[in-house]
Amino acid sequence: MAGATVTANGGIQVELGRTRYVLDPHSHVRADYTFVSHAHLDHMHSPSKSERVVSSSLTAELAKARGYDLGTTTEEAEGLELLDSGHILGARAIRIQDEVYYTGDASGRARAFLGKCKTRQARILVMETTYGVPEYVFPSTAKLVKEVNGLIASAYDRGVPVVLMGYPLGKAQLLSYFFSSWDPIFYHESVEKMNRIHIEHGVALKPGTRFDPARDQDRLPKGPWVMVSPMSSGRSRVMAHLKKEYGAILVAFSGWALGKGYRYTMGADYSFPLSDHCDYQELVNLVQAVSPEMVYTVHGFAAEFARDLKKMGFSARPLAAYQSSLSDYVKV
Ligand SMILES: [Zn+2]
Repeated sequence: MAGATVTANGGIQVELGRTRYVLDPHSHVRADYTFVSHAHLDHMHSPSKSERVVSSSLTAELAKARGYDLGTTTEEAEGLELLDSGHILGARAIRIQDEVYYTGDASGRARAFLGKCKTRQARILVMETTYGVPEYVFPSTAKLVKEVNGLIASAYDRGVPVVLMGYPLGKAQLLSYFFSSWDPIFYHESVEKMNRIHIEHGVALKPGTRFDPARDQDRLPKGPWVMVSPMSSGRSRVMAHLKKEYGAILVAFSGWALGKGYRYTMGADYSFPLSDHCDYQELVNLVQAVSPEMVYTVHGFAAEFARDLKKMGFSARPLAAYQSSLSDYVKV
């Protein structure tokens, strides 16, 4: 059988023998198998009835809770292997025989209840490169958590509340896990909904008080408290209200926090580079572990990282068509 070919057209398409696989499509694409790596909305689509969807059962459950019915999904099919990508609960990488390894979004380090991306050798590697330039090397998670605890402690000393902001699925559960020793703790309704699914699957998250901005924004206590909230501009109506009425400090968590101007752009008081993606060095380590003949890069600094890989002696290029359709994601 001839080797696999990889192209991009509304999703990453892999042809191997007579079988076509489409990986993380944005809309329905004709294929024998459709792979959904995880339940972030930029990786979601509503499959047609005839699609055979490969995803973890956790991804299907989280997707459903977010309004996407993936239908009947499977974790097993001949020649396919799903591997923990460490990105968020249920996130998987996929290996198609020993030909193609696709990371989806992947993390290069274990943190809290999440592991790091597992790797296997493959001839072709298709990888996310969100943070594929050398400026993006993240500090140790333990050091970051310690720093944030120091910041919250000094806010508590002054009677000031703190809002911790990150994506409602993934980042917000890490924030709920790391900072749950603070009391009282409020969870924005979208965070609480995702926390509940995590708790049902054995993740030790402390219950807190649900915060519905439409109903509760004038009912919070005056004293110090911590809230875990989705990422939102400090200039948004709710955040501006929490600042004005309660004197809340806004803290944003994202890998982009290493970039210049991030904190200002978000209108946050502080920002920390806590990420669910590989940093630059972790991306390089991942390529070395898979040891591929060819690398295709997607997301973020795809062209820059492919260029660096070439300097290191790998054959690499960005999957341009897929990349351009994700330009909005890159700006987040
Ligand atoms: Zn993601």
